Amino acid sequence: MADVILVLNAGSSSIKFSVFDAADRALPLLLRGQVAGLYVENARLTVLDADGKEIESRDWAGTPALDHDGAVAWLVDFLRAHKGDHQLAAVGHRVVHGGERYAEAVRVTPEVIAVLGRLAPLAPLHQPHNLKPIEAVARVRPDLPQVACFDTAFHRAQPEVAQAFALPPSITQRGVRRYGFHGLSYEYIAGALPRFDAQGARGRAIVAHLGNGASMCALVNGRSVASTMGFTAVDGLPMGTRSGTLDPGVILYLMDELGMDARAIETLIYKQSGLLGVSGISSDMRALLASEDERARFAIALYVYRIGRELGSLAAAAGGIDTLVFTAGIGENAPAIRDRVCRDAAWLGVRLDEAGNAAHGPRISAPSSRVSVWVIPTNEELMIARHTIRVARGGRAAEPVAGPDTARTPS
Ligand code: ADP
Repeated sequence: MADVILVLNAGSSSIKFSVFDAADRALPLLLRGQVAGLYVENARLTVLDADGKEIESRDWAGTPALDHDGAVAWLVDFLRAHKGDHQLAAVGHRVVHGGERYAEAVRVTPEVIAVLGRLAPLAPLHQPHNLKPIEAVARVRPDLPQVACFDTAFHRAQPEVAQAFALPPSITQRGVRRYGFHGLSYEYIAGALPRFDAQGARGRAIVAHLGNGASMCALVNGRSVASTMGFTAVDGLPMGTRSGTLDPGVILYLMDELGMDARAIETLIYKQSGLLGVSGISSDMRALLASEDERARFAIALYVYRIGRELGSLAAAAGGIDTLVFTAGIGENAPAIRDRVCRDAAWLGVRLDEAGNAAHGPRISAPSSRVSVWVIPTNEELMIARHTIRVARGGRAAEPVAGPDTARTPS
């Protein structure tokens, strides 16, 4: 009888899940999938095997619509039926915010749930949804160890100046500071990079996580020293629908001159800006790259320009750059974007290998390049599974696992 680890990544209307074989040190992926369409009429469970072949799909026709609780119960039932010979050993959750308190993954207790709930104002669009499945699992399987893994934790080791805002202590003491996000992705890349470039991994690496959400992180010897996201996940680079960094004066202008309140501004900067807002066409990079529209061209130009600006800033924070890594949907799949970013970074010593880039790497820098450049697929779910097994078994040291990586959960 093998143990399996269930990894959950819950959003407002979906729960993505992955199941890993905990009997094998490499934690091979067994299943992945999602329950989508929560809170609307027809939720749908889709399950894929490790090769991406659909092995199950179910529609929810019940009334009322399926909620997070219902989805978790559905999932636990499915696993019991499908993996009856396997024993669910633990559940790992992606939780966006661990606040100042959690610098590493933590076993869930009622106290942890209470602390994480109090962090909801710091990530109102994500944190409450991340917590719902934790509470749901605690209700249906109170015996099961649960582990919360944070997008912020990896960045808690940054120097104090990198985490601080130039605001009075009366404000900063309330936890108003730069946290940084996508930490599970950066931690995964920091663990994987030595297999590609052992020397570069010990030096100064800048990682560009370019997905729907996008950010960049500077690593020195595998540790985060600075990141583009700050207090919230709207800071830094323009994203699919998020604005990225704004002059705070813009917010004041929107309030004073346009009469917008906090909720209206939230909708604007999280859902109506970025690639979608600038182009007026799509948040999807594939659609923009395929478009001949001038607005799509400008949205891409702004995106690439902002990446270049942040690259310079992060190189300054790290004291230079030896390695550049592209990851996540755009970083892994869009050679045209990598090409433009690398050309703009020629001043830092980056020289692209066009054939390597067209082939998606892994190495995409020319032999003459002072900076080695890589495409490395991220795997946040595997990172969560590693933390979960370590914490659930009461271990302390992380267990980086060599060997082939499993595929990402679709998003
Ligand atoms: P999330 O942040 O939701 O996990 P992903 O990492 O899946 O997002 O990235 C989604 C982004 O990746 C979208 O903008 C999508 O257009 C882009 N993308 C995926 N495949 C390609 C491709 N072949 N070419 C260009 N962009 C791509």
